[in-house]
Amino acid sequence: MSSKMKVLITGGAGFLGSHLCDKMLENGHEVIALDNLQTGSLKNIAHLQGNPKINKRFSFIKHDVTKPYNIKADWVFNFACPASPVHYQKDPLKTLRTSLWGADYGCQNAIKHGARFLQASTSEVYGDPLQSPQKESYWGHVNPIGPRACYDEGKRAAETLCVDYHKQEGLDLRIIRIFNTYGPRMHPHDGRVVSNFIVQALKGEPITIYGKGKQTRSFCFVSDLIDGIAKMMEQSNAVGPINLGNPHEFTMIELAERVLRLTGSISKLKFLPLPIDDPKQRKPDISKAKKVLDWTPKVELEEGLCETIEYFSAVL
Ligand code: NAD
Ligand code: UDP
Repeated sequence: MSSKMKVLITGGAGFLGSHLCDKMLENGHEVIALDNLQTGSLKNIAHLQGNPKINKRFSFIKHDVTKPYNIKADWVFNFACPASPVHYQKDPLKTLRTSLWGADYGCQNAIKHGARFLQASTSEVYGDPLQSPQKESYWGHVNPIGPRACYDEGKRAAETLCVDYHKQEGLDLRIIRIFNTYGPRMHPHDGRVVSNFIVQALKGEPITIYGKGKQTRSFCFVSDLIDGIAKMMEQSNAVGPINLGNPHEFTMIELAERVLRLTGSISKLKFLPLPIDDPKQRKPDISKAKKVLDWTPKVELEEGLCETIEYFSAVL
């Protein structure tokens, strides 16, 4: 393989996909972003289109991954799929199809062109985990017919599909399990907790805490995650799955307090019902990523929150 790759990023106009486009271009590669713009936006990649510094190394294709495609590439990052519970639950059948058919057509395209294929899987494969922290060897605790199942089971089945393409047809595969990641370019109406709290705090609206706010998540800043993803694609041995996330665990109340302090907001907390099957705890065991990829996240929550608050202040 030459050091300059032709890189296809499905979901390339989304939050993570657009940051991955930036990273791959920075590393000198040629990038094709493919997206149906369901939750992503052309605004996320506007700085790349027609940018003379990039010298025609970037292009965008509007396409839905639930339909086949034929695009030559050396590396494929499969990121197309809504990731916010609010959005993926709007049309569960579509989410399931995007996850499964999107992975299927993605693997077929990669095999046809001899490409390496990286599947963006998720900590949601562990469901509402009964073990903490979650290691890759944990099989998870998932309700197969609940409101989150279209996403959780879709991503689990996609892992199965990718691994079987690897075993049966020799697909050059990488799987990462991404834990809650936040940062600039999240959509203000994305619905996930970090963007919700920041937008609410900046507007002086009530901070919506679901349940008692004692549930935990571990938040990874986007630049750390993108470094880990690039390392996973570049290394030549490990298929994975490998957890990528920040192991510092916070309750939603702690997150709200930090956002209020850092924004200087006077918003009040508003307690709303806990969504069905909402996981009570989530914290990655990243010893595999440390060992195999020599990767560890560097950005602490407050630093990442400040950068994200700055972004939303400008956008709003
Ligand atoms: P996002 O919603 O911002 O991005 C998803 C992108 O995929 C959007 O641009 C959307 O328009 C596109 N898309 C959706 N369905 C599509 C389809 N059928 N065909 C083509 N494009 C389609 O979300 P994100 O946070 O950037 O997540 C990207 C990927 O990372 C997803 O696969 C998600 O499951 C995974 N992930 C993200 C997180 C996180 O914390 N951000 C955690 C775990 C996994
Ligand atoms: N949450 C919350 N208020 C919000 C949005 C989310 O308290 O306005 C909670 C949600 O119930 C969950 C956690 O924050 O326990 C993380 O939710 P998110 O949708 O960001 O991601 P998840 O990890 O659940 O997929």
